[in-house]
Amino acid sequence: MLSYREVVTALIDLQIPADSPVLVHSDQEQFGEIRGGSETMVSALYTMAKRLMFPAYTTSTMVTPLVGPVENGMVYGSNLEGNLAVQKFHPNLKVDGSLGSLAEKFRQLPQVSRSSHPILSFSGINLDSALQSQTLEDPLAPLASLSQAKGWVLLLGVDQTANTTLHYIEKLAGRKQFIRWARTEDTIIECANMPGCPDGFNEATPVLQSISRTVSLNGCQVTAIPMNLMIHRIKSMLGDDPMALLCNRPDCESCTEIRAAHKNDN
Ligand SMILES: [Zn+2]
Repeated sequence: MLSYREVVTALIDLQIPADSPVLVHSDQEQFGEIRGGSETMVSALYTMAKRLMFPAYTTSTMVTPLVGPVENGMVYGSNLEGNLAVQKFHPNLKVDGSLGSLAEKFRQLPQVSRSSHPILSFSGINLDSALQSQTLEDPLAPLASLSQAKGWVLLLGVDQTANTTLHYIEKLAGRKQFIRWARTEDTIIECANMPGCPDGFNEATPVLQSISRTVSLNGCQVTAIPMNLMIHRIKSMLGDDPMALLCNRPDCESCTEIRAAHKNDN
């Protein structure tokens, strides 16, 4: 069973500068049992960095309309049954289960604030201005704030497919974004500039290796990457190959649409 001391020691070994904000993507279950559970993990993270952010996404609010704009990487009218189960966004809505239990535990802490995007909210400690920078038109604005503050990304037992900053860099590089719809308490809201699919993101692993710091915790990897160097490397990767980071699933509507949009541009 992992102790608080073992977790802290591993995190401190990453040598993330103490004043840098850290965006954490996590799958705590990968590390086996931790004495004190999620509280231990959050305390250890807070010992490492006083400004922490987690994704608090709620794709359970997403509605599939019957009709909509063309070339939008989705099949309209394809999820009528799913629409019946859609949840209304509210500030206490649970985060997606796919984000890991730690992201939900973190969101519930009394000192944590959450941004208000109905699909792509973030939760944070001591990062209110970054959270408040998010708008419906610019869902990834908090990541711009973190990069300006020399932020780091921490992958805690997850691979690059969890790394939302790669979506932010796709947008910086001019990659096509999408419109999605979310249910809220009163209405259905249109959300612009939504990212596509992360299934091809592990293509970034070798590109980021030399700027990543990795430690092992109970045999499982913890990787820290400085955002600004990541932005530099991945923009250059997308400049060399505009189709990089897309997945190869033939049924992936957003990656297929991005490939088609690129063909039309050239
Ligand atoms: Zn895809």
